[in-house]
Amino acid sequence: MPMEYGRRCKVCNCSTRAEADRLKLAEGWSDQRIADWLGEHGVIVSRVAVRSHFLNHADVKADARREYARAQGVGAAAVEKRVSDIERLDRSIELNAKIAEEYAESTLAALKNGQKLSMAQVTAGTAAFSELRHAIQAKANLLGDTPQDDLTDLLVRALSGDDDATRATR
Ligand SMILES: [Zn+2]
Repeated sequence: MPMEYGRRCKVCNCSTRAEADRLKLAEGWSDQRIADWLGEHGVIVSRVAVRSHFLNHADVKADARREYARAQGVGAAAVEKRVSDIERLDRSIELNAKIAEEYAESTLAALKNGQKLSMAQVTAGTAAFSELRHAIQAKANLLGDTPQDDLTDLLVRALSGDDDATRATR
């Protein structure tokens, strides 16, 4: 995997870059954890700078991460486990998104007909949203995308249509 180099990037220019890249790509450390770790090694760098480094100077796509780990012969088993965890979460996301969507449709239909959903429907629907949120968050964490929490929240909110759905059941 070709590695880019940023002339003015503190991470690229530090002597611990290779280890920092490995911790991100093979171990899945968060940008903040890597920034802290670099600080302990005398490289004072912000989380944003670390994120920029991995976005611009290292390829963090899942396939690349797997290939990188293989090439390094480091933590291959751990990486495989993470990939299978992500696939499991993808299935959970797909299933719960479907349930949540059906719940949203039932809610809309009930709203239109002036009816109320049954307690069982509400319980199942909210459980699906909760599972969906959990799975998306867990996947983001596994991918090392924790700085995108805001994006995850936006996605969950967009999928759940929060406000309307809850109001209709009251
Ligand atoms: Zn860099």
